[in-house]
Amino acid sequence: MSLVIAQGLSKTYRTGDIDVPAIKGADFVIEPASFVAFVGPSGSGKSTLLNLIGCLDHPSSGKLTVLDTDIATLDRRAAADFRGRNIGFIFQDFNLVPVLTAYENIEYPLIMVQQWPAAKRREQVMRLLKAVDMESQANKRPDQMSGGQKQRVAVARALVSNAKMVLADEPTANLDHDTAYRIIELMRRMRDEFGTTFIFSTHDPKVMAEAETTYTLEDGRVLSRTHQEAAHA
Ligand code: ADP
Ligand code: MG
Repeated sequence: MSLVIAQGLSKTYRTGDIDVPAIKGADFVIEPASFVAFVGPSGSGKSTLLNLIGCLDHPSSGKLTVLDTDIATLDRRAAADFRGRNIGFIFQDFNLVPVLTAYENIEYPLIMVQQWPAAKRREQVMRLLKAVDMESQANKRPDQMSGGQKQRVAVARALVSNAKMVLADEPTANLDHDTAYRIIELMRRMRDEFGTTFIFSTHDPKVMAEAETTYTLEDGRVLSRTHQEAAHA
């Protein structure tokens, strides 16, 4: 079963009297456990596409199937439930809760969305803290962390509910090159370890080189798809 299937997928924003076509008939398929980048200049439609895949927005036309679900059929509530069960998100500006520690930020979705029992929760949070190499920083708050550390916590948070897919819209835009590279490498390792599909967007060439599958967007169209086996470890 493919994870994501887009067929003639289009999204047009209506602002007053003006239609802004952001995605113009995209066709692509994303398989489970893949490591995919959408690449293109600002305004090419990357965020719009990730928002559609993340069920944060509805297509204007065409069909988008995510985990066997036609996402056009989901109302707001069903979409939120679907996201909570299946999709993790990583943001450009990390979006950690400032008053919570690294540990508590990772635990947050398990309390707010999933309501796991306490012992199971603790085990899962510790496993993720370890996976992203933040065990020794568990009690730090975001203002005591570097950008790279914050994004490592955010990667752990995106995975903590056992999401089948993690979406990351320009996750490295606020990081220096070396840190950006390390975050992408971490995401790829998490894909290997947990089998989670990662779909991210970027316009950074060093970052896009680390993807296995790259879709190039231009002006709302998918221009090309390239595939390379996992780059150097
Ligand atoms: P990217 O993430 O690649 O920079 P976006 O998906 O944000 O591209 O934007 C694609 C196009 O859609 C752009 O022309 C942008 O101005 C337009 N757009 C994005 N969001 C909205 C919106 N909420 N309302 C109107 N136009 C939008
Ligand atoms: Mg964007």
